[in-house]
Order: sequence, then structure tokens, then C-alpha cells
Amino acid sequence: MRAPGGNRFRPVEDEATGSGGGTDGLDQGSREPIATGRLAPGTPSDPVGAADRLRAETSRRIVDALAGAPSPGAVADVYVGWVAARDAATCPARYRGEGEHGWGFPGWSPPLAGGACGRAALAHHIAQADRAGRPPTLPMPLDAIRAWMRALRTRDGAAEGRTPPVERSGVGDWICEVWDAGDSATLAAVAAVAGRWLAGFVRVLGWPLPPRLTLVNAPGPAAVSSLWWRPGKASPVTVACGADARLGRVTGAGGFALVVHRVATGDDGALWDRAAFEAAAGALAIGVVPGSVLLTGGDTGERVTIPVDDDLLALGADRIVAVVAERVVAVERGFDPADATPSGACRHCDHLADCPPGQAWMRVAERWRSGLPVL
Ligand code: SF4
Repeated sequence: MRAPGGNRFRPVEDEATGSGGGTDGLDQGSREPIATGRLAPGTPSDPVGAADRLRAETSRRIVDALAGAPSPGAVADVYVGWVAARDAATCPARYRGEGEHGWGFPGWSPPLAGGACGRAALAHHIAQADRAGRPPTLPMPLDAIRAWMRALRTRDGAAEGRTPPVERSGVGDWICEVWDAGDSATLAAVAAVAGRWLAGFVRVLGWPLPPRLTLVNAPGPAAVSSLWWRPGKASPVTVACGADARLGRVTGAGGFALVVHRVATGDDGALWDRAAFEAAAGALAIGVVPGSVLLTGGDTGERVTIPVDDDLLALGADRIVAVVAERVVAVERGFDPADATPSGACRHCDHLADCPPGQAWMRVAERWRSGLPVL
């Protein structure tokens, strides 16, 4: 379901230069802020110094891990996002077997693009209202997604004043390519996931959006374009924070929260890991340790706030470094079921046919594919 030639991430100018900071003040006037901005017990007392130390220590560990490669340059394009961190932590064999699409940015697809499109559409909806000098109305999810997609298609006329401007983004460029390819099935799938993301986000966070909420990893004047960090200019490693929004301003005192919204609540056991990864990735990208991570679930309305302390940051850094270490091992070893770690992920794993531990796990009663027998 990918558009030909359009499945690779190509940062546009804003994204390529934006590794933190950005705009503040998407103040929509809610009287009941979700985050208080107060520091939780155990939060580093010096959020800037703690982020500096995290950057230095994580850089050193990544350099050490890369030094284990058989030759300089043998490891290229390591994209360390939450999916890679989860895969490397839960089944290293699976991560190593992913190949270029799993080690670098995997390319846009409807499940992956849903959140990015939802954020971009919401940012566009708010920016349009700002330009018109009026408060944004409650967005109707599918209408907002369609309006953003239509605006993407007509943005070339913006410079001539024929249409309202729409902000460029990598996922927006991909949507245009899919559209040009006539792949209406992919467009419909993206719109459905993005609509669910947007509906759940507004449902859980409320409307008007909370005071001092800023969308992140989204284009336009109402958002921060991207949160990523590299250990060095020439490093093949990019650490990407997948937060959807930030609550509170970034100051040297910290105290702001990163918001991670999930369309479906999923596995509660992964919540802590997710918070740890995003807290560390966010601290690396922003240069200030967040006070907490707010995880939300669109299907249940769940909101879980996890304070960021030294232990959480250390766990997040371990997850980041583990991805690089497994990528280095993959150079020589590739997929090796010797250390495969079966779990529910085996049901959807591309390597199941070559993985005896995974097959043995699947043969146990009630571990069939979502309740259906393997035929
Ligand atoms: S089938 Fe299961 S155990 Fe085997 S590589 Fe895939 S996820 Fe890991």
C-alpha cells in the first residue's frame, strides 16, 4: 500500500533543522490544565545539566557500540524510534532481521502515517483559524483530515494567493505522491487511521486544548516541527522522539510534560518502556529533561502520567543504545534465531517461517493467530 518511490523519509527544510525548541503558546484557554508543571519527586533538580550529561553519556555509549562494527562505515542509517527500541528489546533476532527498512526509517505506511497525518491536520486546522483571526472550532476528524489533504494538493497556488497556505512536511509530501499515483485505497486507509488519531486526541485532551499545549512532530506555526537528536554530525544514528505534544513551556527549570497519544491502548506492560524511551529521546532532542510523560489512549480515554526520574532516563538510554548495538551485530550475524525471544509479536512476524522458537511458541494451544488456527 505504498506509493511507488514515495516510501522513504525525506526531511524537508524545517524538519532537517529542527531538533528541539520551537514555538510555544498554543494557548486554547482550557481552565483545567492536565499538567501542573510542578516537579515530581525524583525529577532531576537540574534538567539542563541532566540532559547535557545524558547527551554526553549516550554519545559515548553509541560511539563504543559502533566501534564494534567490522569496518568503519559498515553501519549506516540507524533510525532509533520507539518501534525499533521495542523490537530490539523484545526480540533482538527480529530487529536484526528487519533489514534496511527496519534499521533506517521504515517509510510511510497507513499505520505509521496515521499519527503524523492526524497531527498535521490538527496543526493545519488551528493555523487556518489563527490566520483568520478566530478561535479554532472543534475539528470534525475526517473533515479535518480531508481539508488538510485537499490543501496539500493545492498548495502550489498559495504563493499566488489563490489558496490558503499549507505547511510542508515529509508525510505531506508522501500523501501528495500517493495521490498522484492514484492510490485511493492507501489514502482512504491513512484518512481512517488519522481520523481515529485526531478523534482520540481531542477526546482525551479535551477541547479547547489545554493551556500551553504545543503539538510536536507536526508542521506549521502552531507546532514544533520535529524532535530528533544525533550523537554527532557524521554519526549514522538518529534518535527520534515520537511525542505528539508538549504541555508547558521549555525552560531551564524543566517541568513540562511530553504527551504520547496512542490510537489504541495496547499492552500496559509496555507503558513504562514507552515513557522511558520518549523521556530520554525528548531530553536528548530538546536539551532539557521533561518533568513527566503523559501517555493517553484514544480508545479507552486512558491518561497515565509517569514522572521522569534518573532511573527512567537510564532505562530509556539503555533502550536507545541497545538498538545501535543490535544493528552492529546485524552486520555480521543478520537474522539468527539462536536468541529469538517468542511473544505475541510472533503472530505478525515476517521471520516466523525461519524461526523454530517462534514456531514452537505458536504451536501451543490458544496462541494461534488472533484466535484463528494457522492454516
Ligand atoms: S517469530 Fe517470534 S521469536 Fe521468532 S524472530 Fe519473530 S518475534 Fe522473534
